[in-house]
Amino acid sequence: MPGVWVLAENRSQTLELLTIGRFMAGKIGTSLSVFLCQDRESAGDYMACGADEVLLLPEIAKDQSLDAYIPILSEEAGKADPDLFLIASTFRLKEIAARVATRLNTGLCSDCIKIYFNDRSGAVEMERLMYGGAAVQRVVCQSRPIMVTVPPRTFEPAGTESGRKGQIRSLKESPRSAGRVLERKRRERESKDIREAKVVVCVGRGVEKKEDIALARELAEVLRGEIAGTRPVTEELHWLPEELCIGLSGIQIKPELYVGIGVSGQIQHVTGFRDAKVICAVNKDANAPIFGVADMGIVGDLYDVVPKLINELKK
Ligand SMILES: Cc1cc2nc3c(=O)[nH]c(=O)nc-3n(C[C@H](O)[C@H](O)[C@H](O)COP(=O)(O)OP(=O)(O)OC[C@H]3O[C@@H](n4cnc5c(N)ncnc54)[C@H](O)[C@@H]3O)c2cc1C
Repeated sequence: MPGVWVLAENRSQTLELLTIGRFMAGKIGTSLSVFLCQDRESAGDYMACGADEVLLLPEIAKDQSLDAYIPILSEEAGKADPDLFLIASTFRLKEIAARVATRLNTGLCSDCIKIYFNDRSGAVEMERLMYGGAAVQRVVCQSRPIMVTVPPRTFEPAGTESGRKGQIRSLKESPRSAGRVLERKRRERESKDIREAKVVVCVGRGVEKKEDIALARELAEVLRGEIAGTRPVTEELHWLPEELCIGLSGIQIKPELYVGIGVSGQIQHVTGFRDAKVICAVNKDANAPIFGVADMGIVGDLYDVVPKLINELKK
């Protein structure tokens, strides 16, 4: 059956995709299906939140690759010919999305921040940032299914509607494997994955020496957040692990609160957090570009301001 399909790795991402999935299914005039890989007891919730059908994927251990889903998803999509396939832009699912799109001989529009139905042309259109966030690209996909990846927290989570019901269908493992794993080596992370963090304190080159990162760490702890850095701090000075670099060549985050201390706010960095709900900055230069994107700014020396902030927050 065609329709709008949703695939995510966890409950919060699934609920966010159900919001846009329900909206688009209504616009296209079709049904909404959601794939469920874990947390199977959520099937009823997802139906209450708008899914007409829950498709249960075979369970895969948490630390295993999701490769086994590639033939299952490709075969299902090949049979059902969905209108729109929405996939959460997680590290693992981005790869799955690209490989499924290749098998289906269709395009993949990655990291979309808007998806809508153009009433005049009758086409589904997507918008995504490009040139480090300096421009918005509008995309119309010419092939089917339209496959789209969506960064976490792009949409609000779907709410429940009473009385909604749907069907549950279990999908079987495919005899056609996506490939054979010869060896698996775990890459040791030096830090937590901060893409899901609600509060991120970012250290910029305004911090004079490595030991002073302790100040930012303390602020992050008081705010119950995580620490990150600009490229000079992570990739050049290596004062923080490279995986904590925010920006064009690092990771994109969308926390509730971003606090930049000693960060100038160059576009390549700002593109990594511009969708944060609240942006705060501490910089001694009143003309620093970060104040152009900040909701709240303190002009001052971070060595003076941050300890005072910590004290006030502790109170
Ligand atoms: C292709 C490309 C990709 C890039 N990708 C990324 C990326 O992904 N992420 C990224 O971060 N950068 C990236 N960059 C680099 C980016 O252009 C900037 O150079 C970088 O973000 C600047 O980092 P910063 O703000 O820490 O340092 P600076 O620009 O040196 O700013 C330091 C700031 O600290 C302030 N300051 C100094 N002392 C104090 C003090 N005591 N108290 C308060 N404020 C103080 C200064 O006024 C200044 O504004 C990229 C560049 C290129 C060309």
